[in-house]
Amino acid sequence: AVQASLAAWTGPAATADGRPVKLLANVADGESARAASGAPVEGVGLFRTELSFLDRREEPTVEEQAEVYAEVLNAFAGPGPGGADRHVVVRTLDAGSDKPLAFATLTDEENPALGVRGLRLSFSNAGLLERQLDAIALAARQAGTEAWVMAPMVATVAEAAAFGEQVRRRGLKAGVMVEVPSAALLAHRMLEVVDFLSIGTNDLTQYTMAADRMATDLAHLTDPWQPAVLHLIAITAEAGRRAGKPVGVCGEAAADPLLACALVGMGVTSLSMAAAAVRPVGARLATVGSEQCEEAAEAACAAADPMAARDAVRRVLGL
Ligand code: PEP
Ligand code: MG
Repeated sequence: AVQASLAAWTGPAATADGRPVKLLANVADGESARAASGAPVEGVGLFRTELSFLDRREEPTVEEQAEVYAEVLNAFAGPGPGGADRHVVVRTLDAGSDKPLAFATLTDEENPALGVRGLRLSFSNAGLLERQLDAIALAARQAGTEAWVMAPMVATVAEAAAFGEQVRRRGLKAGVMVEVPSAALLAHRMLEVVDFLSIGTNDLTQYTMAADRMATDLAHLTDPWQPAVLHLIAITAEAGRRAGKPVGVCGEAAADPLLACALVGMGVTSLSMAAAAVRPVGARLATVGSEQCEEAAEAACAAADPMAARDAVRRVLGL
């Protein structure tokens, strides 16, 4: 029966009682975007731009960058499942730590995960962010697909405001990623200065639990089902609901069909994931009610540990 409903599910995604949930794809370049555009998604929720430039010694020019970005935008031109227009969320360079870029990353840091990475690097390198935003705006004008732009590793409202101002000046929608606990705690203030938030659960978990996301012997801590992480996601989603602005999840947590139900129950409006995960998540959401999702969210946050949280959600959803 699960196989049959998986095959039959074509999107757009909604809970059994019709609460819409945007399912979006995580992509790295034109090739992965074209592959993802065949999935029942309403666009891209995370385009990791730094992955296109890992082998570059010099910063690509504005024109070179625009070409790369346009390839991804073009893959999503035209309507998605259900006929609505699709959009692409372009993330500005998340260089540093686990994704070093030769032309940008500092090499002499003692603790790169807590160092000058993501938006911090864009701000410390004169013109780097401006040139990337010019390239994204240029690509968006050529492609005719709506481009939203978001920054990684934002820790303060002042950073969000400075970023938002630069993006909006170019006529684009601005957002920030919630990857640092400080950003989750002040999500309501972040939303006063940007148009949307996107929760990066991989880093949010790493920084909440003070556990390296690459350390395999810390897997029990780097688990997005940790109740502390779920609390921060719930705070962020609630801020979005109050502000009437979109709050998505784009970390690995969004690809877990069980957790996806709890995230929707918290008020998350979109889930972005590897294209292969879209159908299982969409098919699962179609079987659960939105009130059940809300109950699942509360049960997960109240659980003592990740295993108990999973059990509680299964129980509430009757799985
Ligand atoms: C995240 O941190 O959850 C995220 C989506 O960004 P990345 O995995 O690229 O750091
Ligand atoms: Mg991240």
